[in-house]
Amino acid sequence: MVVRAGREFLAIPGPTTMPDAVLQAMHRPSLDIYSDAMVQLTDRILRDLTRLFRTAGRPYIYIANGHGAWEATLSNTLSRGDRILVLESGRFATGWGDAAAPMGIEVEVLKGDLRRAVRPEEVEARLRQDSGNTIKAVLVVQIDTASGVVNDIAAIGQAIRAAGHDALFMVDTVASLGCMPFDMDAWGVDVAMSGSQKGLMTPPGLAFVAANDRARAVHGHAGLRTPYWDWTLREGSEHYRKYSGTAPVHLLFALRQALDLLFAEGLEASFTRHRLLAQAVRSAVAVWAEAGVLDFNIRNPAERSDTVTTIRLDGDHDPGALQAYCNEKCGVVLGTGIGDLAGKAFRIAHMGHINAPMILGTLGVVEMGLRALRIPHGDGGTEAAIRSLADQVRA
Ligand SMILES: *Cc1c(COP(=O)(O)O)cnc(C)c1O
Repeated sequence: MVVRAGREFLAIPGPTTMPDAVLQAMHRPSLDIYSDAMVQLTDRILRDLTRLFRTAGRPYIYIANGHGAWEATLSNTLSRGDRILVLESGRFATGWGDAAAPMGIEVEVLKGDLRRAVRPEEVEARLRQDSGNTIKAVLVVQIDTASGVVNDIAAIGQAIRAAGHDALFMVDTVASLGCMPFDMDAWGVDVAMSGSQKGLMTPPGLAFVAANDRARAVHGHAGLRTPYWDWTLREGSEHYRKYSGTAPVHLLFALRQALDLLFAEGLEASFTRHRLLAQAVRSAVAVWAEAGVLDFNIRNPAERSDTVTTIRLDGDHDPGALQAYCNEKCGVVLGTGIGDLAGKAFRIAHMGHINAPMILGTLGVVEMGLRALRIPHGDGGTEAAIRSLADQVRA
């Protein structure tokens, strides 16, 4: 017996659910890539990207996924033999470092832990030791989509300044932009990157980078520059240069619509919505965890992200069975545990185009699966989520 029909619901942290309006925005003929309409489309999106990153710096759009944006940030600012410091807090900042190593960059990982956020004081201590400024860049994620942690980017920026170090501060916002505050200039971030397919509700295939003047000055003598990624070439006045070739017209149609939806809602309102829905998820998980089998991957409640929750299952229970039940019986696709959490955890994404029925439905289905599979769990998780929302979302 199954109770699945109609649209499958993706509760995975990317690609995320796209609003119907975003899907429909792509259902039209292409534009002449040399037309005024095309130039205006690009200009408006570039302006809106600076609004999202909150920067007076320069934005760039790549036809790429997040991995592409990673390579863009590295190739534009670094040279072979340069050393970078990667702040570990899960899978993604270290993945960025993995991209750097084969480019000839010396990668040092500031050892972290899968179950906690980066500690700014440890960053400061490491940078203070580097009196010769051999570290050229510090890389960190705002939200690590594998561990479910949120890092305090403002505090890490302060730590870098407190150490008196001049390394570039580079931040991955793939799983957070549009969903929680990000304040590139105020937080001292030199380079930020993101992607289209998570909080921004757009198909995969667009990657975004923003660079401030300091980063662009360093770029002037970066040895790893290559034509496709190169900021200087993309700054050429010809529209064609902005994409190093043909513009990804339909992805831009989709992004335009997604940004219109996001700005119509208001960024602050979007942040609040994400926070409330994340709290609902956490309320449910806290109740389920009472039986001792399920647990939050991130130990400190203050370090749990508002876009994805990673839930561990103790060794005897298979998260794969729960995921299979939710998918095959109910049409809800949960995120799988990745990296060191493979086979040990599952993830509930709550980023982008999400609302109360989507989240309550997902939690209800997870609870249904826990019950059907006889995985011990505290009773009433979904009800706790409802209570959390009703308490905050007042009549
Ligand atoms: C998804 C993700 C990436 C990688 O993006 P791709 O588009 O899969 O290359 C990088 N960083 C974070 C934090 C992510 O969540």
